Amino acid sequence: MPLSDAIIAGLTGIVGPRQVLTKPEDVIPYGFDGTAALQHRPEAVVFPLSTSDVSRCVQLAASESVPIVTRGSGTGLSGGSVPSEGAMVMCLAQMNGILDVDPRNLTLRAQPGVTTITIDEAAAQHGLFYPPDPGSMRISTIGGNVAENSGGLRGLKYGVTRDYVMAIEVVLADGRTTRFGSPCVKDVAGYSMKDLFVGSEGTLGIITEVLLKLVPRPAARRTMLALYDRIEDAAETVSAIIAARIIPCTLEFLDRMTAGCVEDYAHVGLPTDCDAVLLMETDGHPAAVADESERMADIARQHGAREVRAARSEAEGLALAAARRNAFSALARRRPTTILEDVTVPRTALAEMVGFIAQTAREQRLEIGTFGHMGDGNLHPTFLTNERNEEEMRRVHHALDAIVTKTLALGGTITGEHGVGLAKKGWLRQQMGESSYELMKQVKRAIDPAGLLNPGKIFDSDVN
Ligand SMILES: Cc1cc2nc3c(=O)[nH]c(=O)nc-3n(C[C@H](O)[C@H](O)[C@H](O)COP(=O)(O)OP(=O)(O)OC[C@H]3O[C@@H](n4cnc5c(N)ncnc54)[C@H](O)[C@@H]3O)c2cc1C
Repeated sequence: MPLSDAIIAGLTGIVGPRQVLTKPEDVIPYGFDGTAALQHRPEAVVFPLSTSDVSRCVQLAASESVPIVTRGSGTGLSGGSVPSEGAMVMCLAQMNGILDVDPRNLTLRAQPGVTTITIDEAAAQHGLFYPPDPGSMRISTIGGNVAENSGGLRGLKYGVTRDYVMAIEVVLADGRTTRFGSPCVKDVAGYSMKDLFVGSEGTLGIITEVLLKLVPRPAARRTMLALYDRIEDAAETVSAIIAARIIPCTLEFLDRMTAGCVEDYAHVGLPTDCDAVLLMETDGHPAAVADESERMADIARQHGAREVRAARSEAEGLALAAARRNAFSALARRRPTTILEDVTVPRTALAEMVGFIAQTAREQRLEIGTFGHMGDGNLHPTFLTNERNEEEMRRVHHALDAIVTKTLALGGTITGEHGVGLAKKGWLRQQMGESSYELMKQVKRAIDPAGLLNPGKIFDSDVN
């Protein structure tokens, strides 16, 4: 149902006419995110410039029971920012100021619309480091990262977004503004509400400010490629490196199809004639980096790598990591529809999981390129398909279901970093079990009783 003239006038009165879009041709780009085959046109898009704007817009929407879908850059891969029926989109991309970098407390305070790379660049100016680096870091916002608890290529050593969130400011479903967390390194006062909101996918509140922890920038880094004729050997190498008590910063995996597409796209010298490539990176003190990279190269050779190449310079290493970040875009050029999965298994189950994905692709006669954060056990089997081909899509859904079922059987999770959103909600109850699932729904009802924040995401909209 279109929003009433009174609501549009109210929003315009709060943020100004230039900050509200209502024409179909203007709002269409805000009707989808990075997830294939999911879209819905929003009724309006509003661009607040301050926490006070957000709060007043939420109060207005709540008074008329208008659902709100918060949006950063729309790079999400589970349909989290795809508008629900009758919803207005609250896009925070223009709240994009770095408010403070504090080198004495090792913290950075920012508005939610700052891009992830800008956060790290601001930290770097002080010799500091913000490690979480989703492949989308050039465009994704820190608000989106916190809402999804995003991971990245450096997750193995440095963890995910949650590990760097010290405090957040949040506008709740009734428009109240509140803060969770504190600038203290240690803080155990009350329940950790901050951690409840990290990863809540826009369903509990709108994050309007973040206080992030920074760490010293590593002094040295070395990047290597290990090439394999068998995918399983690459998976075994990952388990062996970790069993040898080495925690590299990055252990990324690309199968033959992904490596071929990335090379075709980025021309960085990735080999295209082997079944698997491991991108391995270690960082820290120069002596530790030298020692760890030598041991990792040895372990890779012992586990069947036919060749281990070291990047000749830091620039070459950065180019290889950047090329890996382009894996999704590179694969997406091959067929009209790209469906990216996000399953994660315990690391000892990696070899079995990659074998199962390859077998499923053969059985269902599908093109699946697999890459991912192998050091975290996080795989992205990527279906290259065509959503207009109904018969092929039936095989895709069959394969997706088989892969998720196998993941759960191996003790894994339906999503390691992209969130549940719309895409994964059908499997959530299966993973969580009845009592945890019901408890999560009770939390949603307690914090957003009218069900106005991102309805239909994580759970069906009848949760309230
Ligand atoms: C090429 C590519 C590579 C990617 N690589 C990775 C990767 O390596 N690791 C990874 O984890 N993800 C990855 N992603 C997924 C995506 O980039 C992340 O989920 C990212 O955090 C989304 O940020 P965004 O600003 O685009 O958020 P959006 O897509 O706009 O929103 C994502 C979710 O967060 C909510 N949200 C956004 N902002 C706020 C806010 N301020 N307050 C409350 N809720 C909010 C939205 O409602 C939605 O549910 C990738 C995506 C692409 C397209």
